[in-house]
Amino acid sequence: MRSVVSLLLCFSLASQVGAQTIDTCFVCSLIPDSVFARMQGKSYKGSCPVPRSELRYLRLSYRDAHGQTQRGELICNQSIAQDLVSIFRQLWEADYRIERMQLIDDFGADDERSMDANNTSCFNYRTIADSNVTSKHGRGLAIDINPLYNPCVKGKTIQPKRGRKWAFGRDRRKDIPYKIHHNDLCYLLFKEHGFRWGGDWRSLKDYQHFEK
Ligand SMILES: [Zn+2]
Repeated sequence: MRSVVSLLLCFSLASQVGAQTIDTCFVCSLIPDSVFARMQGKSYKGSCPVPRSELRYLRLSYRDAHGQTQRGELICNQSIAQDLVSIFRQLWEADYRIERMQLIDDFGADDERSMDANNTSCFNYRTIADSNVTSKHGRGLAIDINPLYNPCVKGKTIQPKRGRKWAFGRDRRKDIPYKIHHNDLCYLLFKEHGFRWGGDWRSLKDYQHFEK
């Protein structure tokens, strides 16, 4: 209820005073204690080498499937926080659709469950398979956008599994909802901010993924 009230307040004020108040809908802060508690043993595991002080908590407005403004949450590395605030503000202004933006902890930090729900997320501590190297998501330096319709394709393995329908060549050229491609505003904004897109990789195609 509180978040609904604050959102309504946010937008009624925004319409009255313009850009200055819209800034309050795209907020970067240190991770509050209540949020950090939600992350424990999920996205933030005991062995995580990234200190809490290097991570940031973002509250970002976005347009859902119906064009309704929703308020999402992301955890990211401090070094990309202002990039994300700027990019998501421009996406919101351009009516770019994002289905869901919840912390991955709401899905037990289970990447497959989060992707299957088409959830946009960033930080989730993990190492790269068969190594001790922390992944880009593990450092909060990578983000997955609308992942169900922009799956990760490694040979015959599709993540999320339900994304198979939107994974391959000819199908990928069809008019898919939320599709990220080279003329897509999301791609253009992330490129402008110096991110690499997983859809440009050769060894695998990770259409949902941007990293810096
Ligand atoms: Zn990713």
